[in-house]
Amino acid sequence: PATESKRLRIAMQKSGRLSVDSQALFASCGLKINLREQRLIAHVENMDIDILRVRDDDIPGLVMDGVCDLGIVGENVLEEESLQRKLDNDSFDYTVLKRLDFGGCRLSIAVPQEEDYSGIASLDGKTIATTYPRLLARYLKEQGVSARIVNLKGSVEVAPRAGLADAICDLVSTGATLEANGLKEVDVIYRSKAVLIQRKGLSDERQLKLINKLMPRINGVMQANESKYIMLHAPRARLDEVIALLPGAENPTMLPLAGNNDMVAIHVVSSETLFWETMEQLKALGASSILVLPIEKMME
Ligand code: ATP
Ligand code: MG
Repeated sequence: PATESKRLRIAMQKSGRLSVDSQALFASCGLKINLREQRLIAHVENMDIDILRVRDDDIPGLVMDGVCDLGIVGENVLEEESLQRKLDNDSFDYTVLKRLDFGGCRLSIAVPQEEDYSGIASLDGKTIATTYPRLLARYLKEQGVSARIVNLKGSVEVAPRAGLADAICDLVSTGATLEANGLKEVDVIYRSKAVLIQRKGLSDERQLKLINKLMPRINGVMQANESKYIMLHAPRARLDEVIALLPGAENPTMLPLAGNNDMVAIHVVSSETLFWETMEQLKALGASSILVLPIEKMME
């Protein structure tokens, strides 16, 4: 019956590199979540939404099989699962609602530091250890290289030292782990971020309405994340020069200062931050009280 509300199910990583940011995104979107530890399902108190907290590897499958309506997962895991399912002739349908601004990393090939590496062709006939065999196989095929792929779920970075592989293909963000294991990054094969995905065939009107409510909030949070509120006092005589230094400030707000006719206050929402160099230039023009503030939410 139409009156019966089906709660929207969203899968997120329970604990790991995506969980804090996923939770923060939900909170910024106004979802009140009671995240008691060890609970698989967390109810959102103020909306018809349930949050499922699982291993990140399970998230693509949960959405592709229609068990969850939405999910937040790394593109690397999503793409790997899609490729695997294509091979297995399983369903792998989903829609990407939004590429998010966290979880950034790259899937890279790394070899021992002392190795002379002269391009991917030098791995021909070699053994490469990875947690992402399908993504790696696709890349090797594109490059016309044939190598043996060893599938490891963990400790990939020790495989060369342990004599299990000549090279590895693993996720990197800073490269510190590679360096600590005597490896060097030589090729980036895939760049990943977290994405919000939706299952195919979602048709419940109340659920669709909820998603339509959520998306502008997510966009607003992401826009706010990269925006700053800039305030400063500027000399009237040099307004044009001051405004020219402010990123994206065609029509800034200008306010008079009580008891000071030579200076005005300028307020502007900027899509970028102000660098120290720019602040110093502003100061040199006679500006003062320069403030750069974070923005929590915005709606245009
Ligand atoms: P789970 O227990 O949920 O299976 P996990 O150990 O497989 O967790 P994490 O290490 O928490 O996974 O990484 C989750 C995702 O975070 C990765 O799949 C990737 O998309 C992203 N990520 C961002 N930076 C990194 C990084 N430096 N190393 C690994 N993953 C990263
Ligand atoms: Mg995992």
